[in-house]
Amino acid sequence: MKEEAMLYEGKAKQLFHTDDPQVLRVQYKDSATAFNGEKRATLAGKGEMNNRISAIFFRYLEENGVANHFIKTLSPLEQLVRKVKIIPLEVVVRNRVAGSLAKRIGIAEGTKLKHPIVEFYYKDDALGDPLLNEDHIAVMDLATPEQVEEMKQIGLQVNDLLQLLMSKLQIILVDFKIEFGLDEEGKLLLADEISPDTCRFWDEDTGEKLDKDRFRRDLGNVVEAYEEIFSRLGGQKHV
Ligand code: AMP
Repeated sequence: MKEEAMLYEGKAKQLFHTDDPQVLRVQYKDSATAFNGEKRATLAGKGEMNNRISAIFFRYLEENGVANHFIKTLSPLEQLVRKVKIIPLEVVVRNRVAGSLAKRIGIAEGTKLKHPIVEFYYKDDALGDPLLNEDHIAVMDLATPEQVEEMKQIGLQVNDLLQLLMSKLQIILVDFKIEFGLDEEGKLLLADEISPDTCRFWDEDTGEKLDKDRFRRDLGNVVEAYEEIFSRLGGQKHV
């Protein structure tokens, strides 16, 4: 296959053009970053786990009616996706208090929320990804009110589906972050990745963290935790 030009390089992935203008190739990296890039490491095997776990989640969501950009897995580190224009918002859905929410509202980590919370953050490293409300999003022209509502509804639907899947594997879905893009017809599509880098997963019996908090908080065995998630999902390395 001819090597196509790189479109974008992020902290955890590279995006390449393909022969088809509507299709991109994603290459996952073994790099781990946290705290807006201040903390960095290379973790052998992390890229493959995120590529494979994302593929499982995207396929499952598609089967359950959530349109997304995933097309197929190409290799241990690569997948093909539909090209979209990413909306510069991180949509976070939470079932329990953790991370930045614990700091913001002063309630203990692990506390169950009465109902899921949906939050929007502005994807802007220079500003440190600030929390935005719907008025900020409107005046900044980041998305229309209809798109905000659709992202919220899809976020809650993804939450229901992922909670259902993970609870069968004795895993608590604490919270997660998703991103959306617009395809060439302006249709909203779930995009980016869904993996232990972007979700908080806690073992139901032991409370053990099986996600990127192992890296953020220096808990060790980061890739082993991602492998545990992959294995409980019944993951197979067929390509
Ligand atoms: P926090 O706001 O730090 O509590 O994060 C809430 C959820 O969103 C956690 O599952 C994080 O892993 C995820 N998340 C937040 N920001 C990012 C980001 N920049 N990249 C990936 N995941 C994120």
